[in-house]
Amino acid sequence: MTSPTTPASLPGQPHFAYRDGELFAENVRLADLARAHGTPLFVYSKAAMLAALAAYQRGFAGRNAQICYAMKANSSLGVLQVFAQAGCGFDIVSGGELERVLAAGGDAARVIFSGVGKTRAEMRQALDAGIGCFNVESEAELEVLNEVALATGKPARVSIRVNPNVDPKTHPYISTGLKGNKFGVAHERALGAYQRAAALPGLQVVGIDCHIGSQITEATPYLDAMDRVLDLVEAIEAAGIPIQHLDFGGGLGIDYNGETPPPADALWAQLLARLDARGFGQRRLMIEPGRSLVGNAGVCLSEVLYLKPGEEKNFCIIDAAMNDLPRPAMYQAFQQIVPLSLRDPDTPQRDAGAPAPTTWDVVGPVCESGDWIGRDRALALQPGDLLAVLSAGAYCMSMASNYNTRGRAAEVLVDGDQASLIRRRESAADQMRGENLLR
Ligand SMILES: *Cc1c(COP(=O)(O)O)cnc(C)c1O
Repeated sequence: MTSPTTPASLPGQPHFAYRDGELFAENVRLADLARAHGTPLFVYSKAAMLAALAAYQRGFAGRNAQICYAMKANSSLGVLQVFAQAGCGFDIVSGGELERVLAAGGDAARVIFSGVGKTRAEMRQALDAGIGCFNVESEAELEVLNEVALATGKPARVSIRVNPNVDPKTHPYISTGLKGNKFGVAHERALGAYQRAAALPGLQVVGIDCHIGSQITEATPYLDAMDRVLDLVEAIEAAGIPIQHLDFGGGLGIDYNGETPPPADALWAQLLARLDARGFGQRRLMIEPGRSLVGNAGVCLSEVLYLKPGEEKNFCIIDAAMNDLPRPAMYQAFQQIVPLSLRDPDTPQRDAGAPAPTTWDVVGPVCESGDWIGRDRALALQPGDLLAVLSAGAYCMSMASNYNTRGRAAEVLVDGDQASLIRRRESAADQMRGENLLR
């Protein structure tokens, strides 16, 4: 048992802790934010983001390395600003993301552009902005990028994303480095692709990259992928094509439910030892972490609307739904759900008649049976209670939709005892803005 006066931080989320039975983000009481801004509400801790970044920075101390935040994990401007101010580059996957980087004050020269389906318009936009590198994902894309670069008069710096064919041992939807995946150029074809790229006048070969998947919780897949990539670098350089930088992608997992991924600095100690052993330790390095920088820096606050006990299942209906928190519906993902208040000091009578913990399926209001947030959760609940869905900093808001014409949630970024609203709640008018009635 934790004494009510000692901070009891959440597993995996040390910047979120109970004080006197109330959940805080840094020095801000989450219930106060829920009352001020309504629910559902995403709350992020700036210190948690910077701590996650610092683990990578420690890992790369003394090396020539660039951390490019894979912003699809959370692309809100306030979040991007934190990373831009900390000197990060950005890994983008669309022209829209590039606009966000620039709007947040990010440096285009530190942007790398990944993705299997870049359009010509996006390529032009990125060349005009002067991005650092295109991570090209197919031979066909090389040809198109060359044409666009020649037409624009700006050479495109390229790295080819190679598919090392290693199993990241994660959910099939988030594994990307296996032969059967749509990503990257197959290992066997990579040398040929580099020879083609080197021959195209609009392209300038600068690097090589791989990204094998997401929510990876062990070092072995990274070591295997690294060996496969270094084998290729040796072959490509033997063919007379120098490779300036090595990009090992992102994918490091976080603790959602007791997973124990290696800390970023420990992982990189192992990977750098392998690089050193193979003589690549002084090469320029890039990485593209997303989830591990923001996932455990955020929570989603929600209010219990109704309790619906039943014969087979007890349902707890909350005001956040699959449109706010799509991961359970999309990947059967697990996110912890905890109360904001362990007790309510203002209404002691409530404690007396407090509900006993019951097993609930926590679900949203959306008209889909897939709209669940957590199954079989033991919680002592009353309508009106406030809950926090944990580990909600990555792949939640950035994947949020307007399904059921639900406005996207508001977002607050906490820094010490300051709380900034970084996105107001979306209104129905916001949602209808681009639409036209028939004439
Ligand atoms: C999504 C993605 C990442 C980030 O993955 P995380 O699991 O969030 O770290 C990095 N690189 C590329 C190319 C991606 O598509």
